[in-house]
Amino acid sequence: MSTNERWAAPASQSLRPGPGFRISEVDTGGTPGWRGDKDDAEDHLAARATRLSDLQELLYAHGRAGGTRSVLLVLQGMDTSGKGGIVRHVVGLVDPQGVQHTSFGVPTPVEREHHYLWRIRNALPSPGQLGVFDRSHYEDVLVVRVHELVPADVWEPRYDEINAFEEQVVAAGTVIVKVALLVSLDEQRERLRERLERPDKYWKYNPGDLDERSRWDAYQETYQAVLDRTSTDTAPWHVVPADKKWFARLAVTELLTEALESLDLGWPPPDFDVDAEKARLAAMRP
Ligand code: ADP
Repeated sequence: MSTNERWAAPASQSLRPGPGFRISEVDTGGTPGWRGDKDDAEDHLAARATRLSDLQELLYAHGRAGGTRSVLLVLQGMDTSGKGGIVRHVVGLVDPQGVQHTSFGVPTPVEREHHYLWRIRNALPSPGQLGVFDRSHYEDVLVVRVHELVPADVWEPRYDEINAFEEQVVAAGTVIVKVALLVSLDEQRERLRERLERPDKYWKYNPGDLDERSRWDAYQETYQAVLDRTSTDTAPWHVVPADKKWFARLAVTELLTEALESLDLGWPPPDFDVDAEKARLAAMRP
């Protein structure tokens, strides 16, 4: 089986929530679209990692030559869903010069003085860059809704506002790859337990994670609303089952590779006379 045939269909199709999608029915231990096991995934990843890195270099070159295109990876998921692992293992495959990474936590006092999209706009990738959002503007309809940080008449219009915002971003030349990493309640317990048992993992543990865990059902409901209302043709969501870390990494690598391929970029032409430069070099002292 050739490497391309390992995916039954492009991952961007297999992982897109279809009509009637129910988050409660997602098999978080599943590997939708992948026709292989973990070992196959490791072999395949090695090949796709090279492709991803080459494509990112093309994007970077395009940006340096005055191009306007960029890619934005938006990562959302509950605590322990593996957002950090994706950044390390997938985004880490490419040249850090071409990556603009931003984590969005509780808004700072300065951020709070602005519209919730202000800090998001400021972090959008420049041309030629791969932007990575570890959490994003979606927190403003997730944690904000679960904790009732603002009333319903404030968060309710945000879904449409986010769609309109993303349309502008895409129109300006950015491909947005939105990824919801889904783990099960059981898998989250295991990962939290591990953090509490291993001194090298304490730093990842935050007692507040248990408070969020206790609101699991409310979060499921708000994720459902996000997927129902903001998975547009312009900026679709991808639902990535994340109980198997290897699958989540494989899937996001594939989604990013497909996004970069969709740009169909070529190497920028020289803005100098190649033959003249060759002649000058040849005429110089050895
Ligand atoms: P992580 O948990 O991703 O490792 P942090 O410990 O910095 O990173 O947690 C980020 C926290 O910030 C999360 O609990 C998240 O819900 C919260 N947060 C992010 N954006 C907002 C927002 N707009 N309003 C309120 N809380 C937010």
